[in-house]
Amino acid sequence: MPKFQWVEHCSFRVDGTPKAQPRGRAFAIKRCSNGHTFSAKKYRCPKCQALGTVSARIHDAGTAKEWKRAVWAAAQRFKTASPITLPLRVDVDFYMPRPKTFSPKVRAAYGGSSRDIPSGPVLFLPKPDRDNLDKAVLDALTKANFMADDSLVCWGTVRKFYHGIGGRPGARIRIMVWKPTKGPENDA
Ligand SMILES: [Zn+2]
Repeated sequence: MPKFQWVEHCSFRVDGTPKAQPRGRAFAIKRCSNGHTFSAKKYRCPKCQALGTVSARIHDAGTAKEWKRAVWAAAQRFKTASPITLPLRVDVDFYMPRPKTFSPKVRAAYGGSSRDIPSGPVLFLPKPDRDNLDKAVLDALTKANFMADDSLVCWGTVRKFYHGIGGRPGARIRIMVWKPTKGPENDA
């Protein structure tokens, strides 16, 4: 019987500020006669109770477009002739822009003082959530025809950080494929 294992396919960095996969398709904005804007799901303006008219449709897919395009572009040189249909492991480290001052929540995670924040990567605690960051990357890889479907990804670690001092925003992506081990027991 052949033995299988995770074999590294590629590892690469994507530059840019990581974005979450947008939820939902598109949403409309209403504007009342007093100039307030509010969700089109609401019938009346929450501020002044006036009726509103739809003034814009915002495709929230646009919010991740640039980032997903960067992931798509970075994956191009590692594509195989046809999309991968084997089980996949994808490990991603996200590096978000590092602020000049950290929130109390982040400071507390390192003992409370700014002086205790490491100069290297720092745990990233605000939104976006980890799974939504992951989803945007996997969606971009699938759109790049790197793999046949996101559902093939069944393993992997997703971490989110602020980048270290001297670093820059982006992501480090490692992709592994579940393949038969090369060796004597698999020959014949
Ligand atoms: Zn109003």
